[in-house]
Amino acid sequence: MTNRVTPPHAQAEEVPADVRYEDVHVFSVDVEEWFQVGAFEKTLSRDDWPGLESRVEHQCHSILSLLSEYGVKATFFCLGWVAERHPLLISAIHKEGHEVACHGMDHERIFRFNRHEFHEDVGRAKGLLEDAMGAAVSGYRAPSFSLTADIWWAYEVLEEAGFTYSSSLYPLKTDHYGMPNAPRRPFWPIGSGRILEVPMTVCKLAGRALPASGGGYFRLLPYQLGEGLLRRGAAQTGSPGVFYMHPWEIDPGQPFIAKAPWLSRFRHYTGQRALPGKLRKLCARHSWKPMRDAVVAPIRDGG
Ligand SMILES: [Zn+2]
Repeated sequence: MTNRVTPPHAQAEEVPADVRYEDVHVFSVDVEEWFQVGAFEKTLSRDDWPGLESRVEHQCHSILSLLSEYGVKATFFCLGWVAERHPLLISAIHKEGHEVACHGMDHERIFRFNRHEFHEDVGRAKGLLEDAMGAAVSGYRAPSFSLTADIWWAYEVLEEAGFTYSSSLYPLKTDHYGMPNAPRRPFWPIGSGRILEVPMTVCKLAGRALPASGGGYFRLLPYQLGEGLLRRGAAQTGSPGVFYMHPWEIDPGQPFIAKAPWLSRFRHYTGQRALPGKLRKLCARHSWKPMRDAVVAPIRDGG
């Protein structure tokens, strides 16, 4: 029932083509502070972080209340850094019926770690999240989609650390991330029945691979285009689309970093006021589930 996929790795196997997914998409939120983003990494150093204004709690509560208007349940990939400082936020997300998953400790990209350091990072973050909410974490998303073919061992580490799925690959190339030859459907990167990878959604149009999972693109592009890419990308793969956003994307009141490069400021601040309205449309027009329910459970149950 399974097929070998090459590249990215000889052990990778696709999930069976007859897995039956519901007509739903995955709503996900990468929970990090406004100052922990790649766009500001050359302007704000990690040493600056403790002195900067924390806004993640307020931002996440805005998202929680927006999602609750539409009964949408999501997966929140949270930093251990946030869990350490705001454990009540993690338990509030869990209590509202959303899935809490792991986004690493402090947004360091995986390729900066060796195997041992990566195990320490994800193990610590997972423990902090689980302690904060009193429930197990099974999902992981790499900061800045930094899981690539060169560090495929990361999947073995994630499995050793107790994760059952990852959503860490963007199967296209951008200026900051991406792995263009990765499968577009969920797959087992280190062999069937082991840890599952749920890639971000890509839409193929006129031979080009376009990012269709939201993020900054959904904020910067007109609504119809962002929504259409997600819908078409999901239909092309026959699996749920994966949408993602960040808490800082709906907070026009956050500090303005004037010394950041122009392109970084544009990517970070543009379209923030309009985003809640676009999210409302998206929530109203589609059905949404957390990743564990929309993608992982049908494969485990039927695969
Ligand atoms: Zn992130």
